[in-house]
Amino acid sequence: MPRRTKILATLGPASSDESCIRELILAGVNVFRLNFSHGTADEHCLRAKSIRKIAQELKTPVGILCDMQGPKIRIGSFIDDIKIDLADNDRFILNSQIGINSGDQNGVYIASDLLADIGVDDILLLDDGRLTFKVESRDDHSVTCRVVQGGVLSSKKGVNKFGGGLSAPALTEKDRADIKTAAALNTDYLAISFVRSKDDIEETRNLLIEAGSQARIIAKIERAEAITEQFLPGIIASADGVMVARGDLGVEIGDANLVAVQKQLIDAANAANKVVITATQMMESMITAPTPTRAEVFDVANAVLDGTDAVMLSAETAAGKYPVDTVKAMARVIEGAERHPLAQRSKHRIDETFSSIDESLALAAMYVANHLRGVKAVICMTATGFAPLIMSRITSSLPIYAMAEKPGTCEVTALYKGVVPIPFNASELDPSQVNHRAVETLREHEVVSDGDLVLITKGDFVNVHGGTNTLKIVRVGDVIQ
Ligand code: PGA
Ligand code: MN
Repeated sequence: MPRRTKILATLGPASSDESCIRELILAGVNVFRLNFSHGTADEHCLRAKSIRKIAQELKTPVGILCDMQGPKIRIGSFIDDIKIDLADNDRFILNSQIGINSGDQNGVYIASDLLADIGVDDILLLDDGRLTFKVESRDDHSVTCRVVQGGVLSSKKGVNKFGGGLSAPALTEKDRADIKTAAALNTDYLAISFVRSKDDIEETRNLLIEAGSQARIIAKIERAEAITEQFLPGIIASADGVMVARGDLGVEIGDANLVAVQKQLIDAANAANKVVITATQMMESMITAPTPTRAEVFDVANAVLDGTDAVMLSAETAAGKYPVDTVKAMARVIEGAERHPLAQRSKHRIDETFSSIDESLALAAMYVANHLRGVKAVICMTATGFAPLIMSRITSSLPIYAMAEKPGTCEVTALYKGVVPIPFNASELDPSQVNHRAVETLREHEVVSDGDLVLITKGDFVNVHGGTNTLKIVRVGDVIQ
């Protein structure tokens, strides 16, 4: 049985040459993240080219996700890029009127528009929460803080406010330029950072369309406001998927709250037919060590049991010492977790009614797949990837083979749990041959043999979105029409 939960790995200086990309794909990467917080547009375009070329060579559909930097709020730099050491109870000033590169032991630059959202008694978290400040006083151009949790602080570190509320808009000028780059390199997914509401997603979608891209949009959930009843439902409904961005989110809501929120976000995404990625520090120790900790093994496994589509690697593959070993370890842990019955049985939507024919049919197919003895695989002929997306919301131990002709569909479905994309040119075949060829393709992939049952779903017309209306159950080796 193929691994169901997908691996999303970030490319960076440690992993961008072609031999490493090839090894990463062979080790199990399904989608690569190009992180626009680092690197130049040219570097990302080059990486995308290499990914496409090698995926083609290996005949493995691999997706690309371009991740926008967003308004990560950062302090300015210290003089000569020195690091300063702040002790508990020190006083430190965030000041919009000193030079952007002239920070020192007493204070550092911060953009003035951010100061408006900071008030006395607010708790500020710097460098992903490694340092904590409490605001003691403020004036029009600075806030004076007391260091609650000291430590080393270096240039351009991020700032979060505990509880959220730093109100920078999600799309920066840099993001707008990067969206054009992402469209030009033909990305399959675009992730927006620090999403506040569905408006950010709609604006992104318009920019993508203007740039000629049909990329699916992933909303990174990393602000406290984004998980509120007021904003979360709209965000999930407007996006094609969400990322549980545990790094920044954990800083804003407190690490203890992450556990419940991760489960809630994964459930909400699945219920809304959206894809979901669990991200950050999943294999953190493997940046410098060749094996994961037990805690990391269980973190990845628990995300699988929670029902995530994909687990993400950041610095582990972008800048770590063991990028390929990390992916291998992650794949191994996922496969172990997927042997647990929780990862194989579904109670999804038992009590629901459905609103569309293709959705009902996709779910009916999974019901049959999970309950009829002898079924080895589900073949889903798809135009845009919608039917396999719906099917993959159902927990199952059976693989869903998404057979698609339209460019980009295989790469999009590479992120869906339980879905194995296979390029398949149905329109070149006589209609009476399509089912037979599809089953033979699985036989060539050595996933079925004579006597196995296979489910096939498709529409009356190939390559038409939303057309799925037929479910067929066939036996391998019989005459199949
Ligand atoms: P980042 O997003 O890696 O771009 O910061 C993920 C997170 O915050 O967890
Ligand atoms: Mn983040």
